[in-house]
Amino acid sequence: RQIQIAIDGPAAAGKSTTAKQVAERLSYIYIDTGAMYRAIAYKALKCGINLEDGEALGRLLSETDITLKQGKDRQIVLLDGVNVTDAIRKNDVTNNVSAVARHSEVRRDMTLRQQQLASKGGIVMDGRDIGTSVLPNAELKIFLLAGAEERANRRHAENLKKGFSSDLENLKKEIEARDRMDMERLESPLKKADDAIEIDTTFMTIEQVVEAIMTNVQE
Ligand code: C5P
Repeated sequence: RQIQIAIDGPAAAGKSTTAKQVAERLSYIYIDTGAMYRAIAYKALKCGINLEDGEALGRLLSETDITLKQGKDRQIVLLDGVNVTDAIRKNDVTNNVSAVARHSEVRRDMTLRQQQLASKGGIVMDGRDIGTSVLPNAELKIFLLAGAEERANRRHAENLKKGFSSDLENLKKEIEARDRMDMERLESPLKKADDAIEIDTTFMTIEQVVEAIMTNVQE
């Protein structure tokens, strides 16, 4: 039997890295829902849409194609056919994505897309509201946590590895601001589902987190 695994948690808690590895081990499809929100935020910024205007964002999304493709060792994001995998990780997108994601018009559309993707079999989906809203019936729900300091450190190391410029203090502020916005949202806030297993990854390696999730998988 193939199951649905929902992995939620705050920014930079290690969701995508662990989710990807769990999916690989199980030969499941991996879906990074944050990348989908980043893609529409990127397009909205490019088109000069007012990020306060939920209706306009909803309209934009309705005429937008977002395709996730399994690349060699990472997920490729195609926005209307164009590869935006790297562009959506840049600071202007990171700093504006929560503002775009908080509109109900955007969330409704995204939720439907994600449910559609999940109907295709074994799936590991990571995000903020997967266990609570997108896949409330997922067989396994994980909520990953880590201290803000540690999350900033991890993102910093990742940026340096990719050759991006990176400022640790700024990163910490940005991560905390994004947490606040994601938690204070009225619709689908970042929240642990009642039946989710909470894992604090602050002092764990990626391998340990993957193991902890795998021991809870019952196919
Ligand atoms: O996971 P990542 O940090 O790339 O997500 C970027 C942003 O997208 C989050 O800060 C959040 O505002 C939004 N998001 C969301 N719901 C999801 C996934 C991401 O609102 N399921």
